[in-house]
Amino acid sequence: MAIGESWGRTFKASHKLEPRNWMHSPLPSNPEGRSILAYGMGKSYGDSCLNDGGILMPTQRMNRVIKFDRETGVLRCEAGATLESILQLCVPDGWFLPVVPGTKFITLGGAIANDIHGKNHHASGTFGCHVRALELMRSEDSPKLCSPDKNTDLYKATIGGLGLTGLITWAEIQLKKIKSSFINMESIKVRDLDEFLDLSASSDKDFEYTVSWLDSLARGRNSGKGVFLRGNHSSEEHKGLPTHRPPKFPWPIDAPNFLLNKLSIKAFNFAYYNKQFSRKKQSTAHYDPFFFPLDALHDWNRVYGKRGFFQYQFVLPFAEGHGPVRNILRIISESGQGSFLAVIKTFGNIESPGLLSFPRPGVTVALDFPNNGQQTRLLFKELDKVVLDNGGRLYPAKDACMDIEAFERCYPEIKNFLPHIDPAFSSSFWRRVHPKAA
Ligand SMILES: Cc1cc2nc3c(=O)[nH]c(=O)nc-3n(C[C@H](O)[C@H](O)[C@H](O)COP(=O)(O)OP(=O)(O)OC[C@H]3O[C@@H](n4cnc5c(N)ncnc54)[C@H](O)[C@@H]3O)c2cc1C
Repeated sequence: MAIGESWGRTFKASHKLEPRNWMHSPLPSNPEGRSILAYGMGKSYGDSCLNDGGILMPTQRMNRVIKFDRETGVLRCEAGATLESILQLCVPDGWFLPVVPGTKFITLGGAIANDIHGKNHHASGTFGCHVRALELMRSEDSPKLCSPDKNTDLYKATIGGLGLTGLITWAEIQLKKIKSSFINMESIKVRDLDEFLDLSASSDKDFEYTVSWLDSLARGRNSGKGVFLRGNHSSEEHKGLPTHRPPKFPWPIDAPNFLLNKLSIKAFNFAYYNKQFSRKKQSTAHYDPFFFPLDALHDWNRVYGKRGFFQYQFVLPFAEGHGPVRNILRIISESGQGSFLAVIKTFGNIESPGLLSFPRPGVTVALDFPNNGQQTRLLFKELDKVVLDNGGRLYPAKDACMDIEAFERCYPEIKNFLPHIDPAFSSSFWRRVHPKAA
């Protein structure tokens, strides 16, 4: 049995590993009755990519390009291909991924199974909106082609389906046309939550990408203070469309836990907010530092030490007003357990095809917290109450603490999803949040 971790390093799971080399090699037979689960790059923070005591199928070697139409930007590849490798392939020909998360080190299968979102949710929806077709290998059938017109219910269950409907062997996506690998961007200091929300609403029409870094320890009138980023792909044609380079440095050690405290977080937040002198700054940046600033440092999760860290991400619907978001920011700043990395963004109203997709119109906030054991879990309980009582939901890709009741309240669509689960598949996350999971 091999020990496996996810990005947050708060779970240690033991698995029998059965790596996938070929799309159509049979699924592992499991005479001991162990469940199976696909594993991409393990960039989910909690336990949704782990299957403690079961079989894990790493897919990274199942990464071939099947077909790429350079005229139309339709790309079909095996599900273990990383977004990094797809960008290396398509950017020089003037194509870009339709949606990217905060790291390019994830697989196509992982992007679909969590139906990831990016800084352009208001303009392009989730990753799943751009999946034209996928092939699904299930334990009891021959591989099934799923698309918006074929096996539609299974297609909808698989997008955002947490890897529970079967193994995605390949997927076909529509890329987006670009003229340059650079982004024209503006960074604007915002004083509080109201200013962020106004700026976000007025930017959505003219800017494809919007997001704001947030000072999670700012209190009272300053709550929501941060630096708002907005940008568009440059329309100036650049010769050669340079792609990104490999990460420069690995993070060398597990940092000692005492380094992460209120003072160091305050100092970081102060420096980040004040690194820009003027209120508004315009610049042009390559797509790599604009979308993936953290990728420059390999294994940066070790910054949080051996105990690991959590990421807490929620979305609260616009209908509930700004009160609940303000309330959550207040609880966090009063707890003193703020985080270096806190981002806030609004989701637009483009519906995802996924039955269990996380995004919905509203305000989403994602915050990292060092793992301080019970203290951190108690804080999450308090935050959960505000999220759930106001019709919000938590993001399974980031979650490590949700219980059965919270999951059911976040995802009432679960009853339509259950019939599509492959009985041979399961995950540590699923057994945590679903009462009948084996
Ligand atoms: C620095 C950082 C920034 C991030 N930013 C964002 C962001 O902006 N937006 C966002 O939405 N997410 C974000 N994430 C989360 C990340 O994008 C998701 O967790 C993503 O799903 C991870 O992909 P992976 O390939 O590592 O899959 P894993 O984490 O290994 O697995 C995730 C899920 O996908 C399933 N899966 C993987 N491959 C297959 C397959 N072939 N068939 C069926 N199921 C499969 C697994 O079973 C599991 O349920 C971020 C993560 C990090 C570390």
